[in-house]
Amino acid sequence: MRKPDFHVHTYFSPDGHMEVAVAVEVAIKVGITDLCFTEHMDLGHNMELFNRVPDFYRMKEAIEQVKSMRSGINIYHGVEVGYIKETAEQTAKVLADWELDYVLLSTHCVDGIDCYMPEAKRGRDKETAYKRYLETVYESVTDTNLQDAYDCVGHIGYIAKCNYYEDNTLDYEMFPELLDDILLQIIKQGKGIEVNTSGINRAGHTLPHPSIIKRYYELGGRIITIGSDAHRTDRVGENVSETLQMIRDCGFKKIAVFSKRKPMWITIEE
Ligand SMILES: [Zn+2]
Ligand SMILES: [Zn+2]
Repeated sequence: MRKPDFHVHTYFSPDGHMEVAVAVEVAIKVGITDLCFTEHMDLGHNMELFNRVPDFYRMKEAIEQVKSMRSGINIYHGVEVGYIKETAEQTAKVLADWELDYVLLSTHCVDGIDCYMPEAKRGRDKETAYKRYLETVYESVTDTNLQDAYDCVGHIGYIAKCNYYEDNTLDYEMFPELLDDILLQIIKQGKGIEVNTSGINRAGHTLPHPSIIKRYYELGGRIITIGSDAHRTDRVGENVSETLQMIRDCGFKKIAVFSKRKPMWITIEE
């Protein structure tokens, strides 16, 4: 059965810790059949390290090189764009110059701070912090600058990933109206959501939470991808098999991979 991992970071990301070729070897070893490199591009990020355009040219070269040497795995060139309202127009312009397979639109920064950082939550109760995060996700999917520029929304629930509150869960019941607004926008625009497995060991659930994935299906959402968000070799493909079954239990028969910004379908077998 095909097993995609559509979200990994290498040395081309400021926080990545693996070479493209090494990531491919590890992916093959753990049974990944479709691997997409999604380096960070967070223009306007408060940490200077992240406030940059990844070297798309060298990334492409590295990917082409490994593709020519390796068979038995499909390799894709994507990007993970961090949403920041002030730089959305500039981001769209940069993306227009590159032929990518997949653009993931993620909300990392809320009110100027990456919500992985404890400072994003300090002085805010969980309800307030999580609501601001989701409001920013809503802003990202309704930003007219980006509507032609992205394919899927990354890791909805990212704020839950960094332990801060006693219970960090972000599920559907917490914000049903706001989550419906986000999911309906995504569906209306013909975009998709990503299920990010990296939340399992941190937040205790995938990002988004299974209850949100179920709701997305109920509302008519069908475009769904899966990614480990690995920054190191030991995380490539992590929890992908179990998560594919969970997605199937939510009603989905197929999972998407993207080539040249178009979804292609893989049947999720039992
Ligand atoms: Zn991310
Ligand atoms: Zn990522």
